[in-house]
Amino acid sequence: MSMDAPTIKNLNLAASRPDRPRTVIDVSGVRLGGEFVVIAGPCSVESEEQTVRTAIAVKEAGAKMLRGGAFKPRTSPYAFQGLGLKGLKILDKARRETGLPVVTEVVDTRDVSWVGEYADVLQIGARNMQNFSLLREAGKSGRPILLKRGMLSTLEEWLNCAEYILAEGNGKVVLCERGIRTFETFTRNTLDLSMIPAVRSQSHLPIFVDPSHGTGVLGLVEPMCLAAIAAGADGLEVEVHVDPGSALSDKDQQLTPEAFGRLMKKALALRTFMTEMGESGGSAGASPYHPEGNAFDDWVD
Ligand code: PEP
Ligand code: MN
Repeated sequence: MSMDAPTIKNLNLAASRPDRPRTVIDVSGVRLGGEFVVIAGPCSVESEEQTVRTAIAVKEAGAKMLRGGAFKPRTSPYAFQGLGLKGLKILDKARRETGLPVVTEVVDTRDVSWVGEYADVLQIGARNMQNFSLLREAGKSGRPILLKRGMLSTLEEWLNCAEYILAEGNGKVVLCERGIRTFETFTRNTLDLSMIPAVRSQSHLPIFVDPSHGTGVLGLVEPMCLAAIAAGADGLEVEVHVDPGSALSDKDQQLTPEAFGRLMKKALALRTFMTEMGESGGSAGASPYHPEGNAFDDWVD
């Protein structure tokens, strides 16, 4: 069997097929899966000033979308849970100020439709990856969905969760690798970059990488962003905060705008180099993992 042939069974809609082009999702002119896209912004929306200043800074550095959590899934019920509706209104303000489309998490089935009115892309977080009711609602909403990998999930489980959304008639799904639990404790999670070519071999859906949650270690974010680009990621999600020391969540992993600017210079240069080599993801031309040519000679339905 060719290395490119899908081997995961029962993915009626999420699997690569010779007659199925790679998915490109247009979000207000930003083409997820069709161009290299960096989504950046704070872990949590904390105030208008913090969010708008961060949004302006990440846009200046080259980010194409703004992230920020208004509903935060936290380990402790006493930790900052997000500003909720107030946070969504702040994100809306930041979008109007910068023109950046907004990615924000939804954690509750009951909130999908109204949060979807504020979000350009709804994020389903690692802890909710297998919340099947939430996946179905996300499917029904028709909004673009960024589906993060569960921290204890296999590729097969992850792609089946994407299938839940697709099966509701919503084809706008982007996958995001964000690290898994292993015995390693130096890093917050173990970022599984092998999932980039693995996803590309099995599915037509765009694959993003989040090295902020994937490592939880400031100094590892930039090298893992670059490694993700080298491995063919369609884009990145990176946490950036105007004043990381004062952040109400994930203060140890959020880049300053200056550090993000330096990272972006390298990221864009590397992506250009990969494109010239013909080695970048499907979003920029030929790819060794792209299901085309003879890759499906032995593909079996
Ligand atoms: C996030 O991106 O805000 C987040 C909570 O990530 P994850 O679900 O991957 O932990
Ligand atoms: Mn975070």
